[in-house]
Order: sequence, then structure tokens, then C-alpha cells
Amino acid sequence: MKKKEMICIVCPIGCHLEVIEDATSESGYIVKGHKCDKGRVYGIKEMINPTRLITSTVIIKGGNLPRLPVRTDKEIPKNKIFDCMKIINEIEVEAPIKMGDILVENILETGSNIVASRSL
Ligand code: SF4
Repeated sequence: MKKKEMICIVCPIGCHLEVIEDATSESGYIVKGHKCDKGRVYGIKEMINPTRLITSTVIIKGGNLPRLPVRTDKEIPKNKIFDCMKIINEIEVEAPIKMGDILVENILETGSNIVASRSL
């Protein structure tokens, strides 16, 4: 029986979850320790397909700051974070950039774009 303990990161309360494999449940897992349903959904997703939003910065030339904050506009699979960061670390853009501008479209075929988090 597969079982994993984790902290729910959906809100600052940080419930201590226990996710246990259970063939009788629809998702294949039962979750214990969650104070709300978001924690149950998070726990199951962590077992089936863990994903994360990425936030970082890239070099910007001609702006009034040396680096531009960026993020993914959707969560990407956790196992692609390292490769995604390699691409982000190589990005250089020229000012002006507007918040929401797409810097990399459909990064690593994830369906997520790297977008500017602010205007510079
Ligand atoms: S289970 Fe609900 S209350 Fe607990 S940390 Fe997750 S989102 Fe917050």
C-alpha cells in the first residue's frame, strides 16, 4: 500500500496530509488530515501529477532595473521545473516590456507560457 505524508501548500495553515492508496476510492487515493476539500484535491494531485507555478527573474536590457520578474501562467509538471529553469536562466529581453507579455510560448510543450510579472 502506497502512502505519503506531505504538507498542504494551498494556504498558509499548512495541514499535515497523509495520502494513502485505496483501490476502492474513485481517485485511487484517500486523504487524511485536511481541513478543507482543497487539501484533499492537492494531496491526490501530488500523487498523480504534481505541478507547480514557477516564479523567477530574467535579464532585461534598457530598463530601470537589471532583472524582470517572470512566472509561468499555468502550473507545469514538477519533473519539468529543472529544464524550465534552464530556459528561463538564458532569457534576455529588451525594455519596454508590459506585464503579461509572453516571453516563451508553450514552454517544454506544457501548455504554459513564461510571462512578465510586471511592466518595465
Ligand atoms: S487542507 Fe485546506 S486548510 Fe489545510 S492547508 Fe490545505 S487548503 Fe489550507
